[in-house]
Amino acid sequence: MSSILVIDDDPDNFDVIDTFLGQQGYHLHYASNGRTAIDDLDKFKPDLILLDVMMPEMTGIEVCQWIKAMPEWQAVPIIMVTALATKKNLAECFAAGADDFICKPLDRLELIARVRSMLRIHRQYEQIATFNLQLEAMVEQRTAQLHTMVFQDALTNLPSRTFLLDKLTDLFYSGHQSLALIYLDCDQFKMVNGSFGYAVGDQLIIAIAQRLEQYLSPGDVLARMGEDEFCFLVNHIDSPTQLESLIHNILQGFQANFTVADCEIFMTVCAGATYTRDRHQQPEELLQEADTAMYQAKLRGKGSYQLFQHQMHLEILNRLILENDLQRALKHEEFILYYQPIIHLGTQTLVGFEALLRWQHPERNLVPPGEFIPCMETTGLIVPVGLMSLTQACQQLSTWQQQGWMDLTLSVNLSTRQFACPSLLADIDHILAETAINPAQLKLEITESAIMDNAEMAIDLAKELRSRQIQISIDDFGTGYSSLAYLHRLPVDSLKIDRSFVSQIQTDNRNYQIVKTIIGLGRQLNLAVIAEGIETSQQLEWLKELDCEFGQGYLFSRPIPATEIEQLYLTRS
Ligand code: C2E
Ligand code: MG
Ligand code: MG
Repeated sequence: MSSILVIDDDPDNFDVIDTFLGQQGYHLHYASNGRTAIDDLDKFKPDLILLDVMMPEMTGIEVCQWIKAMPEWQAVPIIMVTALATKKNLAECFAAGADDFICKPLDRLELIARVRSMLRIHRQYEQIATFNLQLEAMVEQRTAQLHTMVFQDALTNLPSRTFLLDKLTDLFYSGHQSLALIYLDCDQFKMVNGSFGYAVGDQLIIAIAQRLEQYLSPGDVLARMGEDEFCFLVNHIDSPTQLESLIHNILQGFQANFTVADCEIFMTVCAGATYTRDRHQQPEELLQEADTAMYQAKLRGKGSYQLFQHQMHLEILNRLILENDLQRALKHEEFILYYQPIIHLGTQTLVGFEALLRWQHPERNLVPPGEFIPCMETTGLIVPVGLMSLTQACQQLSTWQQQGWMDLTLSVNLSTRQFACPSLLADIDHILAETAINPAQLKLEITESAIMDNAEMAIDLAKELRSRQIQISIDDFGTGYSSLAYLHRLPVDSLKIDRSFVSQIQTDNRNYQIVKTIIGLGRQLNLAVIAEGIETSQQLEWLKELDCEFGQGYLFSRPIPATEIEQLYLTRS
């Protein structure tokens, strides 16, 4: 029920109003002067005020000004009741903040209509005000949620990358001198997801976060930077030695297994670190340096760490330039294949070729793969380029098969990134269908280290390739620490002895023994063995002595373009 306050020095006027509005279901209150009215506002809680203009002591205009100046009551509509409806008088009322006026003597119908419409407007106003309040609360709540999302990692509840950068920026510009960053990246975390599933992977991340938190000192920040990446922002580091000893402790912490969902998981991290020196321009640079150092640590192997060194800047720059160049090269079709003959050593006859990638750089002539494949591996560019090599090689094989060279085997190298690519099998099927080659004459070479990094995946893939009759060769064998357990389960056809063993083979030295062992292993597992990098006839003799069946190397031929292969090897005379 709406509450209406009537302020009038003459109680008779109130009686009139009371009579007129009596049937309308309002709650009416009366005040005989402005002072008591204002004092009792809290008691009456009016939804509308009818205010007489002419009153002794405080006039209606003054009362109106008072009420409109009170934040909690200023929204209550005030209808001025006046006997003197001159223009000047009304202008005064509105200037004081009044919402409407009504003339004496009062007309019943007019009063009812004015009161009703003013109350309706007031109600609508209140609804809007409540709605605004709710909206404001909602916005506040959402902002808080967003804040949490942006500044906190949902899985580990650690601060996020954004938080760390903010904090770093703050400290940096407040002139803090001895900051350090330690960037950590788990080694081969993908294998955990691959072998145990993502749920276990997530739990391991949480367990790692908890273990890392033990190395936090007051004022330091530990943030989760990405999937399996963390970063410490260390507040007070007085010397590189102090930083190194902290890193050392952190890495030591990973010597104990993690027990997650009843699995014992061994996990290591690589660390890259840097600390403030005055040459720093931007806080982001510091993060970039730690990241670069981490990348260098990765190159050295699991569980390594590296402090940032200034010359690494140049390396980053060169890498960026190379990345750019390679993107362009792919677009401009600057990659071509050379072919190196593979020979049956006993009969000195040709059995096939290995396709090897070359980059026809517009200014640098032919660039060998050693200079660009590592970069393509890190950027993932090897996936499209590798696919292009495979397509080109199969087209070439198809041409040679159509010319009647049905027995030649063509070997194509496959990178780790490629065999982790979900569309690989579909791509291969597509190429086989397009080129209509006999798949039994295609051999894919996967390096031993790539297989061991991802053994389960390699076994699955090898089975799929086998079912398509494609052959598989383990490349650079002897360098990747194969485990025999895996070798037994991996359906491969041949082993390629790494060039490093062949080039330094001498009777009865260590390499001779290694080559002998690999050849023996091949025989036991019923695999063909191919020796890479045969350069001298002496090496050839030793390999023959050891009963190595196949070989390739500069002694027979360097890798050469397809046209030269055709002129030198594919003539029928
Ligand atoms: P790889 O598969 O082990 O290839 C053998 C490498 O040894 C080739 O180097 C070849 O030119 C070289 N070689 C052969 N005989 C001799 C020799 O008698 N003496 C010496 N010093 N070297 C010899 P290349 O062509 O520079 O390729 C290097 C590596 O790049 C390859 O090693 C392979 O891992 C990778 N690669 C080449 N082409 C491709 C490709 O199309 N895709 C992928 N993913 N990797 C490729
Ligand atoms: Mg190879
Ligand atoms: Mg090799």
